[in-house]
Amino acid sequence: KPVVIIVVGMAGSGKTTFLHRLVCHTQAANIRGYVLNLDPAVMTLPFGANIDIRDTVRYKEVISTIERRADQLDYVLVDTPGQIEIFTWSASGAIITEAFASTFPTIIAYVVDTPRSSSPTTFMSNMLYACSILYKTRLPLVLAFNKIDVAQHQFALEWMEDFEAFQAAVSADHSYTSTLTASLSLVLDEFYKNLKSVGVSAVSGVGMDAFFKAIEASAEEYMETYKAELDKRQ
Ligand code: GDP
Ligand code: MG
Repeated sequence: KPVVIIVVGMAGSGKTTFLHRLVCHTQAANIRGYVLNLDPAVMTLPFGANIDIRDTVRYKEVISTIERRADQLDYVLVDTPGQIEIFTWSASGAIITEAFASTFPTIIAYVVDTPRSSSPTTFMSNMLYACSILYKTRLPLVLAFNKIDVAQHQFALEWMEDFEAFQAAVSADHSYTSTLTASLSLVLDEFYKNLKSVGVSAVSGVGMDAFFKAIEASAEEYMETYKAELDKRQ
């Protein structure tokens, strides 16, 4: 069965560019991918999508097409609208996500604009958003720290691993409510334990192998945990 990768993230984080990079990588590595574009705003695609949701909103057909071809596919790559809430907080976004997740191992790839998340406040709001998506979808989530050709993501790894390092960064930023931040940090600490993070550059192509490794591990996690839970709910 193919693994479905749903690419989400803030507008401008690099989802479409990253998807293009994933397509290039799979083609070069002889990995069989199927591309699904759910972004109505993209008028010209930098890559050829097998199915473009601008032409059809028949999700059931899309999924049964993929099911029919399941033996011939390794990955289904899904691009989502630039404005994140159009997908994550819309009925159709939820329907598509659930349709995929009930049929295939489905992973959320949350793309982060690393250079624009270098302040503790923007970093935290981005992580809270990712956290809300984890809660909403209940699917394994991979954080893809993008644009590391511009800024390395080490600071983010440090903040995620070391609660005190993040607190120190916050207290240097006087504009923030420290008690609120402290409480939220505790929530996020629990969230960080439940996900994998990799540094990538959609432009240079660095980090693709690490990304696919994280996806493979997450697909196993899906089979062990998420699938069992889904079956129980149905
Ligand atoms: P989307 O709204 O999330 O789909 O973002 P886009 O893929 O349209 O990218 C937004 C902007 O970020 C574009 O100008 C891209 O060229 C740029 N971008 C995307 N990925 C990278 C990257 O890895 N490195 C750099 N330097 N720029 C990137
Ligand atoms: Mg886009």
